[in-house]
Amino acid sequence: MLRIVIFGPPGSGKGTYAAILQERLDIPHISTGDLVRDEIRNGTSVGKAIEEYSNSGKLVPDDIITAILEKRIRLGLSKGFILEGYPRSIEQAKQLEKITGIDVVINLDVPDHVIVERLSSRLQCRKCGTIYNERTMKPRVPGKCDKCGGELFKRVDDQPQVILERLKVYKETSAPVVDYYRTRGLIKDFRNDDPDSSPEVVVDRIMKLI
Ligand code: ADP
Repeated sequence: MLRIVIFGPPGSGKGTYAAILQERLDIPHISTGDLVRDEIRNGTSVGKAIEEYSNSGKLVPDDIITAILEKRIRLGLSKGFILEGYPRSIEQAKQLEKITGIDVVINLDVPDHVIVERLSSRLQCRKCGTIYNERTMKPRVPGKCDKCGGELFKRVDDQPQVILERLKVYKETSAPVVDYYRTRGLIKDFRNDDPDSSPEVVVDRIMKLI
């Protein structure tokens, strides 16, 4: 059993790396961002309550996001998890402690200009969630997912103004979570200096940290 948190600013690649790690380690990838988008797409009452936050790049209130995560975690955790997108505030880190312990936090460190560049050209599959990039990780057929043939879409929060808001929220509310875990000896820092390195190669390096 291995309980991993992948932490980093929006656009640091955490979703992409977590998906590859899921395959390599055979441990489930839990993305709160994907859980949020599922609730919104399914038109649930929770989805209606959080849509506005998500679309404008604001954090969903801690209690709501923790309830969404708990619902997913109740489905089973026997192998552990690769948790991505959570915790994003000190309060959430405290709430997570009540639900489960964790073994390691990978802290992705990526400069702002790389983030803005990546997010403004990001695409995602509507069906299976796989992430592409119009410039660096193109699908074989434009607009279609290589894995499942699903339709690729641009997230509403991947527009320049919303990206800047997400970065601001990250710096103010999420970045302090790194210090919280550092004092507990759980942080492994990962700096990706080469924004063009392939996700598979990055994950090789992340695996050495685990
Ligand atoms: P990003 O690419 O910015 O990391 P995510 O896909 O992880 O985006 O999340 C998208 C949106 O979902 C966030 O902007 C936020 O509104 C909501 N969200 C996801 N995880 C959390 C969380 N742990 N706390 C609060 N809001 C969250």
